[in-house]
Amino acid sequence: MKLIPYKHEPFTDFSKEENQKAFKEGLELVDSYLGQDYPLTIGGEKITTEDKIVSVNPANKEQVVGRVSKASRELAEKAMNEAYETFQTWRKVKPETRADILFKAAAIVRRRKHEFSAILVREAGKPWNEADADTAEAIDFMEYYGRQMLRIAEGFKVESRPGEYNQFNYIPLGVGVVISPWNFAFAIMAGTAVAAIVSGNTVLLKPASTTPVVAAKFIEVLEEAGLPKGVINFIPGSGSEMGDYIVDHPKTRFVSFTGSRDVGTRIYERAAKVNPGQIWLKRVIAEMGGKDTIVVDKEADLELAAKSIVASAFGFSGQKCSACSRAIIVEDVYDQVLERAVELTKELTLGDTTDRETFMGPVNDQAAFDKIMSYIEIGKEEGELMIGGEGDDSKGYFIKPTIFAHVDPEARIMKEEIFGPVVAFAKAKDFDHAIEVANNTEYGLTGAVITNNRAHIEQAREDFHVGNLYFNRGCTGAIVGYQPFGGFNMSGTDSKAGGPDYLLLHMQAKTTSEML
Ligand code: NAP
Repeated sequence: MKLIPYKHEPFTDFSKEENQKAFKEGLELVDSYLGQDYPLTIGGEKITTEDKIVSVNPANKEQVVGRVSKASRELAEKAMNEAYETFQTWRKVKPETRADILFKAAAIVRRRKHEFSAILVREAGKPWNEADADTAEAIDFMEYYGRQMLRIAEGFKVESRPGEYNQFNYIPLGVGVVISPWNFAFAIMAGTAVAAIVSGNTVLLKPASTTPVVAAKFIEVLEEAGLPKGVINFIPGSGSEMGDYIVDHPKTRFVSFTGSRDVGTRIYERAAKVNPGQIWLKRVIAEMGGKDTIVVDKEADLELAAKSIVASAFGFSGQKCSACSRAIIVEDVYDQVLERAVELTKELTLGDTTDRETFMGPVNDQAAFDKIMSYIEIGKEEGELMIGGEGDDSKGYFIKPTIFAHVDPEARIMKEEIFGPVVAFAKAKDFDHAIEVANNTEYGLTGAVITNNRAHIEQAREDFHVGNLYFNRGCTGAIVGYQPFGGFNMSGTDSKAGGPDYLLLHMQAKTTSEML
């Protein structure tokens, strides 16, 4: 069978009535099973525990999305043993068979696309378009990594001398611990898990504690697609309670983590220690935080600049690792861009995202709400509040889109990741200065430059040190296989999710040389 070339999953056009109707049906279906219990899955066995993670709707704290069994240390140990044993058979399963499971799982999710997106509306408070993009990205990861595995399976050519037969092939690593965040609760959870398994590894999957239901539903999809028992072991639980245990475990061969800088750094340090019984050095793939910047040049489309800043700063309430949290504007056009961005922000709607028209939903939970509100207080000291600055956590966790102006490049809100709907504007003397300020954080994830000056585009291409750099567009919205995603410096281990070399991070190369 010839494989259809990879093409990303299109976003749903919600201006069409039939699509609106289909999405509403997805919401109704999800609402019909809200509050259900979900088990752990270890070696194919469904295990229900008394201790549960209660997943609630961040737009409505009273609404329970689901109750998910929580793994204890003993169950994590059981999962590790299952994964370790299953690795001995799974590593020998043909790459074509492994890829096929991903293609089947993608087809199942595509069929249930709006249901999955509706779970994200309820569990993560995503607006329709953001939920739709999250689900599309999950599908993309499966389609893309399946194809990448088939390419890698062909091997890489090395030379052979006369009388010699040399081969160079990639083989899997072993048991991977996959720890995912809540902000792309479907795409990143599914993408990091399937990258590991299609490469021939077995997995312990620990989803974020605020979004375990979408992960539980995805486990059902993988089972339906024919994934053998024990390849993926689903062990929701608190990161702070069980994280160290699974990271430190001597049978853990690698950790694939996406989340905050602090947790990523902790995992990186702990994984470096060789524990009793461990016979390898662990690998860590870490995708961490960002402090992402849009630079606006004086020769630029200023309307595009303001629109790009507002969309990148406030889409999904600024809770994307790629979200624009700093706008650095060359002084000649600073006032115009700022004024227009404030005007555009006034038009944004905030509320429960059951309604298609709502632009922005809640932030993730009480901890996120409190953290963002405390940064807003810091912002009031460090800059001029132009719009927003208020929050309401009485029913859900709502924070108004917030702009601070005239912020010093060294201010805390210009350097620390806030992870909410807050953007700081700073003035630059000229383009050189703007790039200098853009580079002044410890992160290096995404950035964008709005300019019509060709020389400045080339300058930024060389000097703006971020993993994903965009010109004349916003700094969010990378697409699998089109804009491989991942950052520099404290944004992670320099990997690129959805890129051509990503699966290799989950594998090791073996050279064989046979004398004929
Ligand atoms: P987080 O608090 O670091 O949590 C991420 C995951 O780590 C969760 O599953 C969490 O479990 C777990 N965890 C917590 N403590 C742990 C420990 N001591 N050991 C092992 N695991 C532990 O991050 P988040 O709030 O979910 O996500 C937001 C962050 O992710 C932001 O910084 C954002 O920039 C970053 N992010 C980066 C990328 C990228 O591609 N670079 C993509 C998305 C998000 P619990 O939920 O149980 O605490």
